[in-house]
Amino acid sequence: MAKGDEQAQIGLIVLGATGTIGRLTLDIARRYPDRIRVIGLAGGADADKLAELTAQWQPEAVAIARADRRDGFLAKLDGAWNGVCMDGPGAATQLAAWPGGTVVVNGIVGAAGLLPTLATLKAGRRLALANKESLVLAGELVCNLLEQHQSAEILPVDSEHSAIAQCLAGRTEASIKRIILTASGGPFRTLTSDQLAHVTPQDALKHPTWNMGRRITIDSATMFNKGLELIEARWLFNVPFAKLKVWVHPQSQVHGLVETVEGSLIAQLSTPDMRLPIQLAITHPESWGEAVPPCDLAALGRLDFEEADEVRFPCFTLARLAGERGGVAPTVANAADEVLVASFLRGEIAYGAIAEGLAAAIDQHCPVERPDLDDIFAADAWAREVTGVFISLSGTGSSGGKR
Ligand code: MG
Repeated sequence: MAKGDEQAQIGLIVLGATGTIGRLTLDIARRYPDRIRVIGLAGGADADKLAELTAQWQPEAVAIARADRRDGFLAKLDGAWNGVCMDGPGAATQLAAWPGGTVVVNGIVGAAGLLPTLATLKAGRRLALANKESLVLAGELVCNLLEQHQSAEILPVDSEHSAIAQCLAGRTEASIKRIILTASGGPFRTLTSDQLAHVTPQDALKHPTWNMGRRITIDSATMFNKGLELIEARWLFNVPFAKLKVWVHPQSQVHGLVETVEGSLIAQLSTPDMRLPIQLAITHPESWGEAVPPCDLAALGRLDFEEADEVRFPCFTLARLAGERGGVAPTVANAADEVLVASFLRGEIAYGAIAEGLAAAIDQHCPVERPDLDDIFAADAWAREVTGVFISLSGTGSSGGKR
């Protein structure tokens, strides 16, 4: 390899390496061994999987969120790696700023992804962002950091936002009338409100077009996820909520659309596979080769679209309203939802109680304008606590309780 090639090599840091986004990111890295060097991996509780990946990729540094898993991790490697091992809740944040990193993929699930996002931007790096909470909880802080650090940039690793970024390329702000995100509608798209009241975790985990983690699968069934995506879009593309819209599109081939003031509608279509947004986020503005097989519209025959039903999917409406309210409201909604979904998955509360608990948390929260990190984490903790109380009350058989 020529020296110039070596310099052009991407130093990739993968946060959430053992999760779905991490696995698909490493798939891309595997396809381009001359152009991508994996220099850092961060994982959570799955020390065995992290050890496996570490042996395989030989990164310079590894971060394990759970300090109690460090010994098991090193024992499993049994001398097959001699990089630096960091552990504890701050380890992924440290890893994001590891020397030599040029692109950080943040596939951490939950609020734990926020500090690594901020560290990546402060280090002036490209952030391939899959962690929703970074923008949902701290959109304004993230955007301020982007302004302060010239070389820092965010490339979205979410099919909808990646689609919209592709549709927006080269367009002026003044030419954009609306931005439309699509939603598959999830497994409950055609159910009536009555039928929705009786769905089980097993029903909700059957997603028709995407293979994802457990929480996001439920969030996609309730369409809460789509509300969070509106909040992300608001910050990523700097547009007011009034210009953001959702269309339900069950085939999941069109991921996002941009409507221009002239009345043109520009759509992005691709096979539903996260490897495309991941590869684009890593390689932009270069094109390296096929990430996924293109969609065959002639074979598919038809594409359907409908309005998002805010009555049958109140979690969507609640997430959007929290986004419009701003401040810590999105943080409260996100934390409450996480607790409610976990409880629903354990069979403790009914499906309908997810929306009830969300509404209760948003209604009761104490608004904070322009929150700093302390405000955000305090609101997150508060929402988890009140939602825990809500669950313990609704689990006793009162309205919205177990069915
Ligand atoms: Mg998405």
